[in-house]
Amino acid sequence: MRYSFPRRRFDMITLDEARTAIITDIRPATDTEIVPLESAHWRFLAEDARARLDNPLFDNSAMDGYAIHVADLRSQHLALPLNGESRCGDPPATLVPHSTRRIFTGAPLPTGADAVVIQEQVGVEGANIIFPDAVRPGQNIRRQGEDFCRGDVLYRTGRRLSPFDLALMSTAGIAEVAVFRRPRAMVVATGDELVKRGTTLKPGQIYESNRLATLLQLQDLGVVTRDGGIASDDMQALRSVFEQARDYDFIITSGGASVGDHDLVKRVVSEIGQIKFWNVKIKPGKPVAFGYLGGHTHFFALPGNPVSSLVTFKLLVEPAIRAWYHASPTYLELRAIAANDFRRSAGRAEFLRARLFTDNGELMARALRGQGSHMIGTLRDTNGFIKVDANSTGFNKGDVVVTLPLTVDFS
Ligand code: AMP
Ligand code: MG
Repeated sequence: MRYSFPRRRFDMITLDEARTAIITDIRPATDTEIVPLESAHWRFLAEDARARLDNPLFDNSAMDGYAIHVADLRSQHLALPLNGESRCGDPPATLVPHSTRRIFTGAPLPTGADAVVIQEQVGVEGANIIFPDAVRPGQNIRRQGEDFCRGDVLYRTGRRLSPFDLALMSTAGIAEVAVFRRPRAMVVATGDELVKRGTTLKPGQIYESNRLATLLQLQDLGVVTRDGGIASDDMQALRSVFEQARDYDFIITSGGASVGDHDLVKRVVSEIGQIKFWNVKIKPGKPVAFGYLGGHTHFFALPGNPVSSLVTFKLLVEPAIRAWYHASPTYLELRAIAANDFRRSAGRAEFLRARLFTDNGELMARALRGQGSHMIGTLRDTNGFIKVDANSTGFNKGDVVVTLPLTVDFS
């Protein structure tokens, strides 16, 4: 059976326009939850986090040594009697006038002291400590609040919390944080030729792969995923997929998105949803769509070609998920030196699978052989992309090119 396609045409837009559309049209998270710090790893903050305490919390010693009041040292008389000891965890003590107090790193500075002299720089003569070198007031003291103060905004809404962030918050007296709930996403592969790994292939069938990569990339962003399986190229099958939309924040399909007789995703979402864009001027990945179904479900229709689905996920879905979390999208682009020539005809912005490596501290990028969007084998060596501008006809070895790293491991 042949289907007729909706009349409405969608203009090809640029990658930047597509990203702007996503950022403006995303319906960001509103639900939050309070979690203890140990459960907040890589979650996204739902409100600004303020310090509840100063850091340092009190004046303390930066070294193991001796606390003194500098004015007690006279040029003729550089010895002070030892009187007392301050250890970590001790409450703040008072320096007995005209004496010195043993002190350890992190211990509260005794009241009346204004410097700490490190133990390697003193002499010991019976019960007296000798200070042969000049001492500067304030030396080896960590001052209360010199790092941050109670009430300071430490992190803004949308921050993705790293182990360092959480350690810092713990220091700042924060025990639990408000984070956005995790979005729910359903991932569906479409295509009559696709079968699940582990089953026997019949002639003409192939093993499905996009869904696995998409599910795992979503999980890396903290998304709760549901594997929606493989839908056949059939209007009814697709309708029943999209009918579940209200349970999800995102529905992501792959395949069936270009204009071919069996590419039905567009037709079904046109019936029941709102399409924001359908074609983006990028290679690979031109037929990639974004829009809504109902009030809060965003959909992405990614291309079927495995490499195209990976590239479009990286360029468009990842920024959308981050925007949903109120986080700014990260588009890391690094300049590198081309390690080989590359020629092409101008037209769409192109993302070449590339090997990034360093040579004497310089970032280099080699465009890999086998750029066909069906050639998943090229991914073995891919650790980033080289971005070729729409109007460019390529580059020469030694030229500066723009790269998008997929990892920071450039070995
Ligand atoms: P389509 O976008 O449906 O026209 O698919 C384009 C190409 O990608 C075809 O060769 C499909 O067989 C292939 N393809 C589509 N979906 C998948 C998938 N989920 N896994 C692997 N290959 C796919
Ligand atoms: Mg298909």
